[in-house]
Amino acid sequence: MDGNALAKRVRMDVKKQAARLDAPPGLAVIIVGHNPASEVYVAHKEKDCARCGIVSHTYRLGEEAGQEKLPALIHRLNNQPDIHGILVQLPLPGGYGAEAVLQAIAPEKDVDAFHTVTAGKFYLNKGPTFLPCTPAGVMELLDAYAIDPRGKHAVVVGHSNIVGKPMAMMLLQRDATVTICHIHTADLAMHTRMADILVCAVGKAGLITAGMVKPGAVVIDVGINRDGNKICGDVDFDAVGKIASHITPVPGGVGPMTRAMLMKNTLEAAKNIATR
Ligand code: NAD
Repeated sequence: MDGNALAKRVRMDVKKQAARLDAPPGLAVIIVGHNPASEVYVAHKEKDCARCGIVSHTYRLGEEAGQEKLPALIHRLNNQPDIHGILVQLPLPGGYGAEAVLQAIAPEKDVDAFHTVTAGKFYLNKGPTFLPCTPAGVMELLDAYAIDPRGKHAVVVGHSNIVGKPMAMMLLQRDATVTICHIHTADLAMHTRMADILVCAVGKAGLITAGMVKPGAVVIDVGINRDGNKICGDVDFDAVGKIASHITPVPGGVGPMTRAMLMKNTLEAAKNIATR
C-alpha cells in the first residue's frame, strides 16, 4: 500500500481547499530544547505546510527558558487569529510535564488531537473534532484500497494513547470486531493469526513473522525502528508480503499518511474557526 502516493493526493486536496479560504491556515509548531529527531520531524512538517498552502510558524525555546515561556506562548497562540493549529513537538525535555502542556492548547486548535476534550469527543463519536493523525492515516489507506472494516476481525497490537487505542476505536466505529493486544498479551500469535486486518504499532523490529499472519490478511505496519541509517517496521515485510493481500512498507506506508493527516486537521481547524 503506497502511503507516499496517497499522502500526495491528500496534500493536493488540502491545498485546493486552503486556497478557497479568505486567509491561509496557520500551523504553529513549538520545539523545546535540542533533540535531533524532533528537528527532522519539524523540518518535514514545515515542508508539508509549504506544499499545502499552510503557513508554518516554528517557535524554538531553549530548554531552561522554556519552562517559563512555554505556557505564555501557548496562551498567546490560543488567542492569535492567524494561527489555527498548535502543536508541541514531543518528547519535551525531562521535568516539563508534557500532559499539562498539551492540556493548555485550546481544543479548537488541537490538531495533534492529544487534548482530553478532543479525545472525549472522538471516543464518544460526538464530533466535529480532530482525529489522531496516525490511526486516521491508516483509515484513509484502508478506504483508498477499498478495504471495508465492517464485519472483519481487526487485531491491533499496541495500546498506546497515540496509536493503538484510537486505532482500535476507529476500526470499531467502522464496525470491525476488534481485538487489542499489548505487551502482556499471552500467545500474541494466536490472536494475530485470526486477523483479517492486522495493525502493528509496537516499535520492535521483526515482531510479526509470516507464521503469525493469516494468508490474505491486510497488514498495516505502524512501527518505526532505526538501525543506524536504516528504518524498518515491526513486520517482516519480505516474508509477510508474500502471504498478505495488502501490506504497508516502512518507510513509505503509514508515516507519510500521519503527516498528511496533520495538514488535513489544520485545514479543518481553519475552516471551523472561519465559520464560527
Ligand atoms: P508506545 O511505546 O507508547 O507503545 C508500544 C505498545 O506496544 C504498548 O501498547 C505495548 O504494550 C506494546 N508492546 C510492546 N512490546 C510488545 C510485545 N512484545 N508484544 C505486544 N505488544 C507489545 O509506542 P507508540 O507511541 O504507540 O508507537 C508504537 C510504534 O509506532 C513505535 O515504533 C513508533 O515509533 C511508531 N509510530 C509510528 C508513527 C507513524 O507515523 N508511522 C506514528 C506514531 C508512532
